[in-house]
Parts: sequence; C-alpha cells; structure tokens
Amino acid sequence: MIEIDGAEGEGGGQVLRSSLALAMWTGQPFRIRRIRANRRKPGLLRQHLTGVRAAATLCGAEVSGDTIRSEALTFRPGPVKPGAYRFEVGTAGSANLVLQTVLPPLLVACGPSELVITGGTHNPSSPPTHFLQRTFVPLLGRMGAQVELTLPRWGFFPAGGGEIRAKVTPVPQLQPLELAERGRLGRTTAVAVLANLKRVIGNRELKAVGEALSLTRRDLELVEVDSDGPGNVVLITCEAEHVTQVFSGFGRRGVPAARVAEQAAAEARAWQESGVPVGPHLADQLMIPLVMAGSGSYLTGALTEHATTNAAVIERFTGRALALRELQEGQVRVSLTAA
Ligand code: ATP
Repeated sequence: MIEIDGAEGEGGGQVLRSSLALAMWTGQPFRIRRIRANRRKPGLLRQHLTGVRAAATLCGAEVSGDTIRSEALTFRPGPVKPGAYRFEVGTAGSANLVLQTVLPPLLVACGPSELVITGGTHNPSSPPTHFLQRTFVPLLGRMGAQVELTLPRWGFFPAGGGEIRAKVTPVPQLQPLELAERGRLGRTTAVAVLANLKRVIGNRELKAVGEALSLTRRDLELVEVDSDGPGNVVLITCEAEHVTQVFSGFGRRGVPAARVAEQAAAEARAWQESGVPVGPHLADQLMIPLVMAGSGSYLTGALTEHATTNAAVIERFTGRALALRELQEGQVRVSLTAA
C-alpha cells in the first residue's frame, strides 16, 4: 500500500488527482492522509469527490473515506474498464480536473471511451476546457492517443451547469514526447467570452489585451454564450510551430475588466519572452504522460510547486525520478530516460 501525505509540497488537490490516475494506471492501491491540507477548506470538495468516484467507477475500485470534506482516503484499484461514462460534479467545481484524473489510464486502455462530465468548464485555478483542447490534447495526439474534446455547454462559477465530452481513442503504449523548441511563433488571438453579462466588459478586456500584446482588431473577438449563470473569461491563444499555449483570465465581481485582461496578457507575454515551448501549467500536466511513455523530455521555465510536487508523487508510484535540470536561469529541462 502506497502512503501519500496530501500536505506535501503544494498540498492541494493535484496530489490526490495524480495519485488516483497513477493508481489506476499502475494497478497499485494507496492511502492518502491530510488531503488538501494547505487549502483554506481542506479535504474533499465536490470536484475531488467526483474525481474519486469517477476513478472508482472506471476501475471497480474499493474505496473508503469517500465523503465530502474527508481528509483521508484509501483506494484499491481494479482493472480499468473503458466505455461510456457520465460524471457529474453537481456544483461549479471543475469538470476539466475530473477529466485530468481519469484520462491518463484511458489513453492506454484496451478500448475506446466516451466521457460526459458536467460542472464548471471555465474556472479560476484550473485548466479551462480550451487549454485542454488546444494545448494539452494535441500533445497527447503526438504521443499516439487521440482525444476529441468538445464543449457542448459552458459552465462558470458559481452556477456551473457546463458540460464537456471526451472521445478517447487509446494506444497500447504512449510514444515519447520530445519538446525542446517551440519553433517559429505564429498568430496570437484573444477572445473575451461573456455569459449573461454586459458587452462593455468584453470590450474593455479586448482593448486591454490588444494594447498589451499589440494585437490588431482581426485578432480580437467578443463571444456571447449561453450558460446557467453569469460568467466571463478572456482566452489568449498563442500559436507556435510545435506547440499552442492558451492563457486565461477570469472576470470577478469587484475586479476591473481591464485588470483581468492585463493579467492574462502578462502571462502570455512572459511565455513569449521566455523562449521555452512549455508554459508553467502545461509543465506539471505533461509529467504523467511523460512517465507513461517511459521516456521523453521537454523544456519549460522555472518549475512551479505543482510541478515539483507532481514529480514527487510520480516517483512514489513508479519508482521513476524525472530529471529536473536547470539549463540556465528560467530554463528547466524535464526528462526521463528509458529504464
Ligand atoms: P485544489 O484547488 O483542488 O486543491 P490544486 O491546488 O491542485 O487543487 P490548482 O492549483 O488550482 O489546484 O491547479 C490544478 C491544476 O490546474 C494544475 O494542473 C494546474 O497546472 C492547472 N491550472 C491552474 N490554472 C491553470 C490555467 N490558467 N491554465 C491551465 N491550467 C491551469
């Protein structure tokens, strides 16, 4: 039984999500204590509990401690069964983070899967669906596993009610990814998305992003969408020859629209200037596919605590240590050599 301390490193929900994914992929049981100990509301929230139950459903796991606000959990996985599943967060908790939990073992399962997940689709502090669609999923495709991710309905905090669908065509073994360069920078575009909010908010955001990143009118778009409640996100998509990065800013009551947009633009600018292909969020999310492939490498900027914590969880489950080598200030090579 693998013992995980949920307070280690970042001490957030990702320790749990990665443990669930790795337990399913490796077939090893684990026990986790102090779940999300470093968060204001520790323990399992709806999104995490949905992730636990989704994982348990996929592999017929024996689980104890799977209740709301629980701070300890035991998970004994069985064999992963691909197929058609529907998982409902039931709040605005991130549907994308539930997908992040269950997707890895399905990439190499013995048959295709079709998932429907309801909840939030564009939440602060989690990958927006567009990030997964444009940034993450294409790289999985390069590793051999095809994921078709669609967004039938948008969901924002606090109303939720969004839906994502993922069709997964697995491969027996993921192929190594080598991502040392991003190649030529291509087009950068920005979209301000509004649900049940005034257009002036989106117009202010587009003006701010346009100025910050020197974009022209044809690179900027305002989109109004249907959703259960109000919501606003600015999505900046930076294309490059070998990778596409999506940066996001979320509108919040009391925060000026221009500031939301400027923060997202500052992240996009930092990535453009860094010269590395892999941005900070993608860097932690690529680690599990990398270890599943058995070898590979990518170049990123300074590692976040999410990334170093994820590397530690991966080592506990697989015994494989990712090499995290600083090549120069602000450039880190993440690599795994064939065992
Ligand atoms: P929790 O809040 O559930 O305890 P956590 O602290 O692990 O979980 P976050 O820090 O919010 O959660 O990060 C969860 C995941 O979401 C990480 O993989 C992180 O890289 C990713 N993520 C956060 N923000 C973004 C973003 N703007 N774009 C893409 N991915 C993001």
